[in-house]
Amino acid sequence: MKYYDKLIFELSRPGRKGYELPKNEYGIQECSIPAELRREAELDLPEVSELDVVRHYTNLSTKNFGVDTGFYPLGSCTMKYNPKINEEVSAMPQFNNIHPLQSEDSIQGALELYYNLQVALSNIAGFAEFTLNPYAGAHGELTGLMVMRQYHESRGDFKRTKVIIPNSAHGTNPASAMVAGLQVVEVKSKPNGSVDVEDLKPLLDDTIAGIMMTNPNTLGMFEVEIMEIAKLVHEAGGLLYYDGANLNPLLGKVRPGDMGFDIMHINIHKTFSTPHGGGGPGSGPVGVAEKLVDFLPNPRVKKNDEGKFYIDCGKESLGSVSTFFGNFGVMLRAYAYILTLGKENLKNVGPMATLNANYIKECLKDDYLLPIDGVCKHEMVFDGLKDKSTGVTTLNIAKRLLDYGFHAPTIYFPLLFHESMMIEPTETESLETLDEFIEVMHKVAKEARETPDDVKNAPLTTLVRKLDETGAAKNPILNYKTLKANAQ
Ligand SMILES: *Cc1c(COP(=O)(O)O)cnc(C)c1O
Repeated sequence: MKYYDKLIFELSRPGRKGYELPKNEYGIQECSIPAELRREAELDLPEVSELDVVRHYTNLSTKNFGVDTGFYPLGSCTMKYNPKINEEVSAMPQFNNIHPLQSEDSIQGALELYYNLQVALSNIAGFAEFTLNPYAGAHGELTGLMVMRQYHESRGDFKRTKVIIPNSAHGTNPASAMVAGLQVVEVKSKPNGSVDVEDLKPLLDDTIAGIMMTNPNTLGMFEVEIMEIAKLVHEAGGLLYYDGANLNPLLGKVRPGDMGFDIMHINIHKTFSTPHGGGGPGSGPVGVAEKLVDFLPNPRVKKNDEGKFYIDCGKESLGSVSTFFGNFGVMLRAYAYILTLGKENLKNVGPMATLNANYIKECLKDDYLLPIDGVCKHEMVFDGLKDKSTGVTTLNIAKRLLDYGFHAPTIYFPLLFHESMMIEPTETESLETLDEFIEVMHKVAKEARETPDDVKNAPLTTLVRKLDETGAAKNPILNYKTLKANAQ
């Protein structure tokens, strides 16, 4: 065991300290804690020096895989490089130290930024207005569906309680629909992964509130019949919701608003660069067409004729979905990202993401089974190895990639195939990185044929080997005592 693999309790030596309390020579008042509340024995904490603590935490921080340590091709997650200037901007005390209850006059800069970001997103996506209040993609979906309900109810149309969702959709879509009090109706996909328009038609009646889609869909394929679908749904009195969690493929090329969508959310922590993982931080702004703006959640930030920014709470609004304005730190990063790239460079994001994905797809399709061929957008889905005789699964391949220093792709999603492996390279990766990844993927396919046990037993070189994921969730070991007790 290397020195730095030791747990901090194992570095502990009686009496060693990394701190010193000031001597009470300035007459600082001692606080009197009632005797019955006082601790009688010393706390069982590791006794270590400051240097031990610094090394312990610094070494711990390098045990995790992150987009700053290596290529992270996690599909449907957009693990792109997050420029460090965005972090600096969001850490500025001028932003960090303001409080949402300050007067409008004293936070004009922050309100201007909120306003400008919502205008930028509206222009990028083709909508009348965005609210930046929701905290995440799924929260954006819920907010958008609440707008949808509010719209129908405001017209006295209470029958519309169902929402159509393709069977290839992200799992959050049906979950959000349920939370919004809507019933989910599934529409089938065609063998090429796109929505089956013939299957959709009979579902469209006066109980349909709308449809939730993403385009390109979860398989990375563009729904070419989207204009037809939009026409059919609108004729039936429904609205179209766009899941824009991953807006990468479209950026600068197509606007969901122009495809006929009425409501959408964007995961700005994905597309507009905020380091995300482990559940946060996120932000899922929701954009709506003109006829829906009054239903947006409160508060909204507006600009008056004199150029002053103010907070507005509308009466027709669906109410509040967040405390105050949402996750301001993520908005700052997104705004910095948009301004850094500028209009011209933002237009390259979609084409570059698409080029990178297609390059990987074409280079790997001799070894990996590509169930849906054709030009993909920002991501592609393989159905495991082409050669099914090796017994090597998608899970094995994902684990083996860790041995070679790459994060695994998204696996076993979407559910349309048994051995799904969803790869999203993003536009920020260089040709050299993509080539290295492709080389390793070929190597793993070769190992699967020649030395399959190496792949089946992977990972072989990581700090911890294959984990019992169910066990870890059900019986988590969260402290040293449990660890020791379990080891005995
Ligand atoms: C990531 C993602 C979501 C959910 O976003 P969260 O911020 O994790 O709630 C929804 N839909 C799609 C397509 C996604 O990729």
